[in-house]
Amino acid sequence: MENPLILVAAIIIAIILIFGPFVFVNNLILASIRGAQIALCRPAESRGDYMKAVCLVSGGPDSIIAAAELKHEGFDVTALCIDYGQLSSGEKAAAERLSKLLGFDFVYLDLSDLKKVMGVTSLVNPDLEITPTFTDSIIVPNRNAILLSIGVALAYSINADVVAYGAHASDRRDYPDCREEFIGFFQKAIQTATERKILVEAPNIKNSKAEVLLRGLELGVPLELTFSCYRNTAIHCGRCESCRNRKAAFAEAGIKDKTVYENDKS
Ligand SMILES: [Zn+2]
Repeated sequence: MENPLILVAAIIIAIILIFGPFVFVNNLILASIRGAQIALCRPAESRGDYMKAVCLVSGGPDSIIAAAELKHEGFDVTALCIDYGQLSSGEKAAAERLSKLLGFDFVYLDLSDLKKVMGVTSLVNPDLEITPTFTDSIIVPNRNAILLSIGVALAYSINADVVAYGAHASDRRDYPDCREEFIGFFQKAIQTATERKILVEAPNIKNSKAEVLLRGLELGVPLELTFSCYRNTAIHCGRCESCRNRKAAFAEAGIKDKTVYENDKS
């Protein structure tokens, strides 16, 4: 060939044509081996069936209804309630009571010292105002990634196939860790971290909070026993962002709200 550049280009094209398919096939083989390793790492007794689930529960309607949905689908549900130092005092009792009523195993974990690293949120820091509408001060930083990771540890330990939480479509705008995008990436992260096929699910992810309440009613969840308030109070304050969302969702769903709110009594 007269032009050396043409000669070099021809050699490069020839190399790609000759070796390209081998690289492609090699990658395919490596990927299938990797997939097989992940499958083999799962314990034999749980391989192929998806019948045990861990669901994070706070005691609020969203998470309790997510757990009830899994139960309805035939899962043995372990409800995992984690104290991360939140001020709310009614959540744990509600979570435990409802777990018993709805037939979930109940696991409670006291990680209240987490409040030491979450001081920017009014949900754990009593010096900050609990606002009546959404502000950044009610975001608990990275909460769902932290709590779901603990849920994965429990799932791994009890051979559960699913880890779930109560995120729903009304959370999507303000809470990044309640979006499907987060779930997808988190799923990949835990699969890489554990080499087990533990599925991350949010059964309510397509439904608004009002639709979730309606579903809860269908599933027989005693909605009035759930607890949503952010404050350290025996009954719902009726004024915090969470209480107001609860009230609004009941109204939107057209369900009679049997919750007792403090401001109803004044
Ligand atoms: Zn409240």
